[in-house]
Amino acid sequence: MKNKMSLPLQMGIGMGLGIIVGLIFQAANLDASWFKPLGQIFITLIRMVVVPLVFFTLIAGAASVKDVSTLGRVATKTLIYYILTTGLAVAIGLILANIFQPGLGLNISTENLTAKQANVPPLVKVLMDIIPLNPIDALAQGKMLQIIFFALLFGFGLSMIGEKGATLSRAVDGCAETMIKVTAMVMLYAPIGVFALMAVTVASHGVQVLLPLIKLVFVMYLASLCQILFVYLPCIKFAGLKPKDFLKGMLSPLIIAFTTCSSAAALSTNMLSSQKLGASKTVSSFSIPLGNTINMDGAAIYMGISAIFAAEIYGIPLPLSTQLTILLLAVMASIGSMGVPGAALVMITMVFTQVGIPLEAVAIVAGVDRIMDMARTTINVLGDATGSLLVTKLEDGQLTPDNQSEAA
Ligand code: ASP
Repeated sequence: MKNKMSLPLQMGIGMGLGIIVGLIFQAANLDASWFKPLGQIFITLIRMVVVPLVFFTLIAGAASVKDVSTLGRVATKTLIYYILTTGLAVAIGLILANIFQPGLGLNISTENLTAKQANVPPLVKVLMDIIPLNPIDALAQGKMLQIIFFALLFGFGLSMIGEKGATLSRAVDGCAETMIKVTAMVMLYAPIGVFALMAVTVASHGVQVLLPLIKLVFVMYLASLCQILFVYLPCIKFAGLKPKDFLKGMLSPLIIAFTTCSSAAALSTNMLSSQKLGASKTVSSFSIPLGNTINMDGAAIYMGISAIFAAEIYGIPLPLSTQLTILLLAVMASIGSMGVPGAALVMITMVFTQVGIPLEAVAIVAGVDRIMDMARTTINVLGDATGSLLVTKLEDGQLTPDNQSEAA
């Protein structure tokens, strides 16, 4: 067992092989949809563990908090971090798009292209929706914010009843530990899943689709890199971790994010990897599932860049005031995005509509959406992990690496 290849390495190999096979299939004009079920199995498996894992770890975490104000503090710090880093993400996207002007000189026919607008629910409704009418229904439907809300209350209740809850507390701890093991089991399939997802993506997104939009893709990846270098890594250094160790420890969730384009799929591994790197259980079991739903820095970067790109194609001027509006809208739209593939592409219609960009632009960007989504999702996931480490450091003064989270 000792000499076995590490999981991230196996996944890396799966990804490399997937690219090669995808390229071969594309060159030979073969149908790569064969691999789809193999990828789908992986996505379903990792999504399967999310609800019970989050539910039990969050109850266990909340039950262990003896003082409710602790969680209030954690929540405040986490939310401030989420809003600030998302704002920075859009700003980085806007600045780079202004410099590189990815849409300039591009002449793409928009005939026959249509896109539907996403309607954003009003804030009051979003807030009201956090409270589940029926917790079992919330669990069944995987409504993450509702699950978080109920699990926290349940955990507090459990801690308040003291001795009477001791047996249940132990049972919940046991369930949480079991789910961590189940996640580890599911992850054994990851290299195959990653291979299949990559092969399908590469085979169906040939260079032809990419070329006219290559500058857009380039700006997206550059902005993502800037977000890592100038936003996350300073936070990580502050938390007392070496950037190299951080990125190495995050390899599994990052590869999952990159290949599945779903941060919901990367959630469980992200939580376990962050704990292994030193995020406290109390902080990470709360902040990572929450961030998974509301903290989408990658999506935010993408919205800023795409808005400028589309405005350039249509010759729509975007003065500073409009760009500031885009910043605010993009922060909100990213909060509203879900952790599934292509979510930001739908939400971006909200930004476009508000600043008067024709929705046909969405259809143009859609051609390269998967490739942009890979970067987006990776950043979305990295942002949550960084937040959990930073808030742990702010709360506890230091990180506490957990070597038992072997699933990561
Ligand atoms: N695919 C992204 C995620 O799962 C959401 C998006 O940006 O479209 O995080």
